[in-house]
Amino acid sequence: MARILVLGSGFAGLWAAVGAARKLAELGIPRGQTDILIVDRNPYHGIRVRNYEPDLGNVAIALPEVLDPIGVKHLTAEVEAIDVAKQHVIVAGPRGRESLAYERLVLALGSQLVRPPVPGLAAYGFDVDTYAAGVRLNAHIASLGTRPASQGRSTVVVVGAGFTGIEVATEMPEKLRHALANGAGRVILLDPNPVVGATIGDHARPVICDALISLGIETRLGAKVSAIDASAITLASGEIVPTQTVVWCGACGQARWRQPCLARATPWAASLWIPSCELTDWRTFSLRATWLRASSMVCTPQSCHVSSRGPWAVSPATMWLPTCSVSPCFPCGSTGT
Ligand SMILES: Cc1cc2nc3c(=O)[nH]c(=O)nc-3n(C[C@H](O)[C@H](O)[C@H](O)COP(=O)(O)OP(=O)(O)OC[C@H]3O[C@@H](n4cnc5c(N)ncnc54)[C@H](O)[C@@H]3O)c2cc1C
Repeated sequence: MARILVLGSGFAGLWAAVGAARKLAELGIPRGQTDILIVDRNPYHGIRVRNYEPDLGNVAIALPEVLDPIGVKHLTAEVEAIDVAKQHVIVAGPRGRESLAYERLVLALGSQLVRPPVPGLAAYGFDVDTYAAGVRLNAHIASLGTRPASQGRSTVVVVGAGFTGIEVATEMPEKLRHALANGAGRVILLDPNPVVGATIGDHARPVICDALISLGIETRLGAKVSAIDASAITLASGEIVPTQTVVWCGACGQARWRQPCLARATPWAASLWIPSCELTDWRTFSLRATWLRASSMVCTPQSCHVSSRGPWAVSPATMWLPTCSVSPCFPCGSTGT
């Protein structure tokens, strides 16, 4: 049976799988004829953009809930390697290490927070990069009230005043109010740039600054972190801020393992598609999708690879557009920007 293999069940992977299932249905291709399999290290789709919220109860959506009704298979496993010559992927899961053959591959393993080698960051830093990390942060904040009162207990330092850092910081006063019985906490938003939201744009900054002021959030701009430990953060200026909670909200980079694969990506171009997703509005779940050939060239309908074996060859230009029904989507050939 031909297989469309989707690696990653984030927004891009989930949408790719759902879109493929819908297209197969539209083409009248029976479920038994083409397999759609999604592989992720977690058995859920994490609504990653909400990982900073106080209640993460409905942020991890069990994959069977979404995928079983539409006949998309799912496997919880770690993706370890891709053999493009043999068209198979090596994964390690509950059944041990196995090789999954594919006809078409969608690489949607996403990004991960870049953690620079700041002393103490790995051991003492928190983040909201994944659902598990968000849960860990919330559990830590909730436990602060049980610790002996101190300045460090009630102070949270958020490093990185981009979108994520601003979201984490602005939720924090309320989280601290719940956690600390007697009195509000102190929240400091720190960034090496001279302004908050440096990449967000000048027009939004006054709104952001007003919100930070109204919530009593302090800023430390043009500041760099030298070290973190269990009870303080040390800045390059020499300032030491007592804190038991440092939340790292720096930049994201490609998932580490992908880089060597992509470096020699050109030979894959015929069978590998990389969905690049930008969530434009999570409340309406709108996505802007860009499909790139592995060779980093933007795909055009003319250059789309048409498999002579797979049934999706019937409609190659539309087969890989997973977002058509939910948002203005960019047809194959657009950069989506
Ligand atoms: C707190 C927060 C708020 C955000 N807010 C916004 C926002 O408002 N707007 C916006 O556009 N973007 C926002 N983003 C960024 C947005 O979440 C990402 O751009 C988006 O999640 C990317 O989707 P993706 O499917 O490409 O990758 P990901 O969401 O990273 O999904 C990748 C999937 O692959 C899996 N995976 C990775 N490696 C392996 C492996 N080796 N084996 C098995 N599985 C693996 C992961 O478990 C994950 O499920 C935010 C991010 C965060 C953290």
